[in-house]
Amino acid sequence: MGDTELREENYLSTEGNYGEELQFSTIAAQAGFCQKENFVNCSGHGKAICTASVYEFESLEEHMASAHLYRRFGHPNSDDMAHAIACLESAEAGLATSSGMGAVVCTMLSLMKGGDTVLLHGDTYGGTYSFFEEDARRFGMNVQFVDVLDVVALEAALSRCKETGNGDGRVVVFCETITNPLVRVADVTAISAVCKRLEALLVVDNTFGTPLRSKPLLQGADVVVHSATKFLGGHSDLIAGAVVGSAKLVKQAKAVATRWGLTVSPFDAWLCTRSIRTLQIRLERAWITSEKLAARLKAEKQAILKVYSTAKCAVLSFVVVGGLHGAKTVFKALRFIKLAPSLGGVTTTVSHPSSSSHAALGKEERERLGIHDGLIRISVGAEDLEDITKDLLVAVRAAAAASIDLRRNL
Ligand SMILES: *Cc1c(COP(=O)(O)O)cnc(C)c1O
Repeated sequence: MGDTELREENYLSTEGNYGEELQFSTIAAQAGFCQKENFVNCSGHGKAICTASVYEFESLEEHMASAHLYRRFGHPNSDDMAHAIACLESAEAGLATSSGMGAVVCTMLSLMKGGDTVLLHGDTYGGTYSFFEEDARRFGMNVQFVDVLDVVALEAALSRCKETGNGDGRVVVFCETITNPLVRVADVTAISAVCKRLEALLVVDNTFGTPLRSKPLLQGADVVVHSATKFLGGHSDLIAGAVVGSAKLVKQAKAVATRWGLTVSPFDAWLCTRSIRTLQIRLERAWITSEKLAARLKAEKQAILKVYSTAKCAVLSFVVVGGLHGAKTVFKALRFIKLAPSLGGVTTTVSHPSSSSHAALGKEERERLGIHDGLIRISVGAEDLEDITKDLLVAVRAAAAASIDLRRNL
């Protein structure tokens, strides 16, 4: 089916421009400082933001030899960001995109055509779900929602695709390393083994996993996408994304991103590269806080019905008593933790998946997946554990009290 040619066993490189293997914290701390040839208008220790939409040349020779011509095709700041994320993911090549959705869209449009099949889990990020459900279907792709994190279900679905022939079409499997909001963890090694055996390509969204916790390319994924808006950006002040993988597949995604205008802006790329330098420090702190917070919430049995958490993840979710009413009470009672429908920043935020990220699924499907109206998602930031815990406990206890009052009055 041609997909085996696309698989270059040899595409992983930890060398990048460093010439030697460095540890994650060193690569992260040096983000943007490593590509010497790219130091354009360099000022001091930092690098300038290059806002030019077009570049000027003294001669046609210079024009033809230049790495940069027009901003939509790439610029020094996007090169830095792409290079930094490729190094963190041990990828041969990287592309910086206008958003996480830009990364998903240019990857899928470069890999698939009408008639091809994609298998993905129903609880993917809402925008991803809608892209496949609305646009990919409209372009004639065969979209199947299967719990691809369940290797047995994946194998059965891929075998069915093979039996029914799927024409000459390609099959692509899409999964997230950690799902949102129930933080189910994908066994990428097992999933990629099934994909390889049954000749499907594997695309992994590593936004929740982060390259500090998981490197899907080293576990057999073909392409990795990121919403850099979240942990890589880390301060809720930029929108960007990334695609990393073999030079060949990234080049194909870049061609689509360039034609469709899905490339990143200089300022967002600059901010993201700057933020990556503190990625490990931010994540390690948030992971410790998150783990301790999960234990404290689990002990709050009068107010909290269930806690969803996993180690090395700054996102956790819980179901508060009283359903939608309980959730409303929590959001009202919180003091410094803000209701904000995103994640991955240094400030702790909460969100309500059933009315935001997963609203597109419809109530029945949400209930089936366990995304109830009383489910609240927390993105743990850099604040003090005791302060975060106290704010949340006061709020969930208010919800529990309101729920008792409500029942008494019935
Ligand atoms: C936010 C998010 C996206 C989309 O990223 P944007 O930067 O908002 O376009 C994709 N996947 C996951 C897992 C996300 O959390």
